[in-house]
Order: sequence, then C-alpha cells, then structure tokens
Amino acid sequence: MKKKSFILLFSIMIMQIPVYSAGIDSAYIYNTYAQTAKKIFDRIMSDSSAWDRMALMCDTYGHRFSGSSALNKSLEWAAQEMKKDGFANVTLEEVMVPNWKRGIGTCSLISPREREIKVSALGRSIGTPPGGIEADVLVVKNFEELTAKSAQAKGKIVVYAIDWDNYGQAVQYRWAGAVKAAQAGAVASLTRSSSPIGFDMLHSGVMNYEDTVRKIPHGAITLEDALFLKRLQDRGITPRIRLNMTCETKPDTLSYNVYCDLKGSEKPEDIVALGGHSDCWDYGSGAHDDASGCIAGWQVLKVLKEIGITPRRTMRSVFWVNEENGTRGGQTYAEKHKNEKHSLVFEFDSGVFEPTAIGYTGDEHIFEILKGIEPILKQIAPEMVLRKGGGGVDIGPMMKLGVPGMSLSTWGKNEYFWFHHGPADTPDHVDPMLFNKCIAAIAIATYIYADLPDFLSTK
Ligand SMILES: [Zn+2]
Repeated sequence: MKKKSFILLFSIMIMQIPVYSAGIDSAYIYNTYAQTAKKIFDRIMSDSSAWDRMALMCDTYGHRFSGSSALNKSLEWAAQEMKKDGFANVTLEEVMVPNWKRGIGTCSLISPREREIKVSALGRSIGTPPGGIEADVLVVKNFEELTAKSAQAKGKIVVYAIDWDNYGQAVQYRWAGAVKAAQAGAVASLTRSSSPIGFDMLHSGVMNYEDTVRKIPHGAITLEDALFLKRLQDRGITPRIRLNMTCETKPDTLSYNVYCDLKGSEKPEDIVALGGHSDCWDYGSGAHDDASGCIAGWQVLKVLKEIGITPRRTMRSVFWVNEENGTRGGQTYAEKHKNEKHSLVFEFDSGVFEPTAIGYTGDEHIFEILKGIEPILKQIAPEMVLRKGGGGVDIGPMMKLGVPGMSLSTWGKNEYFWFHHGPADTPDHVDPMLFNKCIAAIAIATYIYADLPDFLSTK
C-alpha cells in the first residue's frame, strides 16, 4: 500500500470512529444530570397542558387519516401553535401521501338466515365489483388450516377466525390474508379484527398485495361475527354472505411533516429529533396512536424552553405523517434531511401506559455511558430500564442512514390493542398521569443525549 493511500485510509478510519471525551461514563451522566432531570420531571408532572393539547387536537379535527382534509388542518394548527410557543424553524414539509378512500362497506349473511355483519375494508384493499360479491364462506383458524382445506376455498369468501396470541401474530392475517386466500382460489377474504378483545368493535389497519397474486377484496369483521360464522360451520352449515365494499385508491395527495426546533446552545447544527406520527386510522381519533407521540415530543421542547434549559444540541419536535399506510413521512424526512447532522432520532408510538424501557440502537460504548440514565428513569417508574434495541416505523429510514435510534416502550402490550386502530382510541382512554410519566421519561433521555459533550461526534 502506498504511503499516501495509507494516510487517506487512516484519516477515514479516524473520521468514522466516535470520539469520546475522557471521564465520560455512566457515573458522569448520573452525577451531572440527576438534579436537572428532577427539575424536568417535577415540571412535567405538574402540568396538564400536554394532555389538554392532545385532547384538543383529537376532538377538534377527529381522525386524521392520510388524504383527509382533517389531517392537513390539524397539521396547520400544530404549526401555528409551535410558532406561538416561540420555537425556531417551524416548518410544514411537503409530503405526497397515499390517498385510499374507504367508501362504504356492507356485509350481509344471506343463509342460513339474514343478518348484518359489520365490516371494515382494510387499508389498500380493492373494492368489490359493483353489486358486491355473494359467495359461500370457508372459516379457518389459521393459514395452516387454509392450506389443508385449500381445495374447498375456490370461489369462496375465506374468513380467518383466528385466536389472539399477540399483535405480531394476529396482524399477519390482516397483512397477508388476501394474498393467501387468493392463492387458494378465494374471491374475497375477511379477518377477525386485530385486537385481543371484541366488544363488537371493528379495528382497521393496512393490508398487502403481491404483484404476482390476483387481488381480492380484504376486510376486517368483529371477533364476535368471526366466531359466529365459525360456530355455524362447526354445525355443518355453510354460511353464505354478500360483501360490498366501495373502497378505492385515488392518486397520491399533498400532506406534511411538521417540525420545530429548540436551538442548541453549542451545536445548533447537530439535531436530536423526537416525535411520533400525526396520521391515524379513520376510527376514533388516534389519541394513543399517535397524537400522544407527537404531542409528547413537542411538550418536551415546550417544558425545557419554559424552565430555561437549553441543551448543547438542537432538539426538534417532529410530527411524521402517513405512518399507518405508507411511511411516506419518515421516508421523505430521511430524503430531505440526509445531509443534516442528526445525532439521534426518537419515536414514541407504543401507547400511553406505564413506561417500561428506553430502547437504544447505536454505538455500544455510548449505550454503556447512557446506562447512567437508568437510575434516573427508575425514579419515574421503578421497572424502567435502558435496553438495547430502539426504533420505530417513522425513524426507520433515518436509522438506515446510520443515525442512532431511540424509543419508549410501555406496559400496554395487550391493553394498547383494545384501542389501537379502533373506535375507542379517544382521549378519554389516555391517562393524564401516565402520559406525563411517558413525557418525563422521553424528556430526560433525549435532553441528556442532546446535551452530552463532544463524544457523540463522529467527525
Ligand atoms: Zn402508530
């Protein structure tokens, strides 16, 4: 190797190795920030303005589905309020989002008796032909049973009456149910709503097609109706239903990411971005999912500003748009900001419950240093830990570019999905005290990160 190229390679290596300041360790973090963290915590816990703002956003604009005017009006409102709060760089950043329209969905049992079945078209689904589809039903408990009974599926409407184990398991039937049913020759498919409980509620969500597989309409029905159809079939009766859905995908339409900055005192060009997604499904008003995530990040900046704490780096509150059926907000943000320096991206999109962990994906050495936050977090909730593995759908594109990611986990593994994508995701189901605890955890983790000395620098 020539000397010149060795020097070049060595310089590149130096640039890419994080520079750590001497004496910075987890004890330093605790000793330096415990008192400030207490001040932040006390202020957040004594302030109801975040919950009030979340409820105002949900109540005033209703659901904020991508492609709706309500979504854009809520974003314009947020930008105006951010300006009133006195933040810098308030921006409505243009994002083209998918424009799927639900239309009307009806489903009727024709045989063995007439009865209405509530149905929710799933996001991206095609509609039925005019006049709907009338067909016999084949109820299955899972994909394995569909495979075993595929000879019986041809020309039928497949109904997935699945057991709930967890969201990741259940959501496969929402996501891939149409493709699997079409491969078996079905003319449409319906899945039990992706929620651990029923109460006769429909839950929406996005589904998927594959280019090589015939597209069939795909909807969600209630847990009760899925089990009702299964009981009929178990008694040797073949239910017959008529399904009518007028959903369609229109051309992409304009929406926005919204953000504002609390400028850093020493490194204003270095950004710690935090937030959630502004859009939600068209039931309820998206209080947990994810107005709370958006408002939480905003509240962190607001409280720091009000008590006069300015971190070294800039903290940016971001409302990413279109997480639910496109991730265009996260993708557009990464595309438009890839040349800005981001030291961290943080997302809160796990429902407002008792906080359990701050997850971090990034440099191993920084993770060890950040462990100093853990005893501070335990003062918010005794179970809280800092653990490896943070991320989120909206921050995923930035993380792919190499930016460390962080997120808040909460206790609501099952309870969250009572509300998630359903009509009961409303402000009254967000506990104000737990919301403040979540905000406090986010504030402490992100503020400390944004204020750390030089060692976060990779240049
Ligand atoms: Zn969400």
